[in-house]
Amino acid sequence: MIKRGKFLFFIVILFLILSSQSFGQQQETKPVSLEKISDYLYQILGGRGANGGVYIGDNGVLIIDAKMTKESVDETLAAVNKLTDKPIIYLVNTHSDGDHVAGNRYFPRSVTIISHENCREEFFHPQRDGKPSAWSTPEMAPYVPSLTYKDKMDIYLGQKKVELRYFGVGHTKGDTVVYFPGEKTAFIGDQIFMGRPQLIHSYKGGNSFAHVKTLTKMLENINAEKFCSGHSDPLDRTAIEHHIQEMKSIQEKVKSFIEQGKNLEEVKKEFPENLSRLVESIFSEIKGLA
Ligand SMILES: [Zn+2]
Repeated sequence: MIKRGKFLFFIVILFLILSSQSFGQQQETKPVSLEKISDYLYQILGGRGANGGVYIGDNGVLIIDAKMTKESVDETLAAVNKLTDKPIIYLVNTHSDGDHVAGNRYFPRSVTIISHENCREEFFHPQRDGKPSAWSTPEMAPYVPSLTYKDKMDIYLGQKKVELRYFGVGHTKGDTVVYFPGEKTAFIGDQIFMGRPQLIHSYKGGNSFAHVKTLTKMLENINAEKFCSGHSDPLDRTAIEHHIQEMKSIQEKVKSFIEQGKNLEEVKKEFPENLSRLVESIFSEIKGLA
């Protein structure tokens, strides 16, 4: 019995060492912080998950995107609490990727979750391995968007107005632009990846050619000068125009390689390796396979 006790003691110590190591790794994630855009509007940086936003209205707060873990959501709520004692009324999901919505479940039940109607649908898609969506259970139901829109939704927080705008298919088929006219700032989720190739989620109905049109339409329709992205520093209009041109030139190249009779593997070899996934999406779209 003594031996067994020692063995258990050893196991407990081993467990503590291992868990403290994984704790150490978690600490490499920067804590959540808020970066001021105006007196009312902040970017949410750090934590686990994508960058988001906080808007303080006259009568309550709107949050953009949810982080992924309880710890990061708790840090977000604490940071917002330091800014204002107004309640959080709305949480907008810019799209359905886990790094933007997994934290929905850690927000208070009183918060209304909003997304584009296609984004809400994506919550219930089977997972990539074919298993049913984790959001389909009754326990998760309160954390799926309960309010959706088609083209445009205006949200009034007292006198202050926030515009949710949908400009079409692109990164997925349900990406929302959250536009703050007073700040000339838009939160665009993952509709732009800077410093790494654009992700196009074909399995969620995303399409690179539509992406180019959608971003062009966005620039034509909103007067924003600052565009906050889920995964990069804020961008200006020129950076977005540049991104559109870059996408077009990759598409043109893929098209001409296909016209030369090259297959997917041959086309991929013509591009740097980190563009493989994007090139594959474009290839399938041109071939009509996507
Ligand atoms: Zn993301």
